[in-house]
Amino acid sequence: MNPKQIQEFKEKLEKEKNAVEEQLQTIAEKDSHLKDDWDSKYPRMNSEFGGSALEIGADEVEAYGNRLPVEYALELKLKDINIALSKIATGGYGKCENCKKDIDDNRLEVYPEARLCMNCRKK
Ligand SMILES: [Zn+2]
Repeated sequence: MNPKQIQEFKEKLEKEKNAVEEQLQTIAEKDSHLKDDWDSKYPRMNSEFGGSALEIGADEVEAYGNRLPVEYALELKLKDINIALSKIATGGYGKCENCKKDIDDNRLEVYPEARLCMNCRKK
């Protein structure tokens, strides 16, 4: 991969990072102590269906329940984006973490934060 390509992927990743962070801000609050850890705005309950859940409306429980997987998916994506950006900084971006081969450019176009090549992902 040449430096120009890497620069393009870097810009793409930074744009995606901003977009993901914006999305996270609408559904979660950034934890001020832990970097890159986000908490859903809804107060944490001891257990999903524990006693406190009975005291709040069913709609709220449902809204909270629906929001968590989205938050989780966004957090994972943000984590992968940060990993990709640090690989761009230190070298090794675009290589599969498993087999160390170059990840296909077409795949990186769609998922610039990809950590595995198509072959390893299938396994
Ligand atoms: Zn691989």
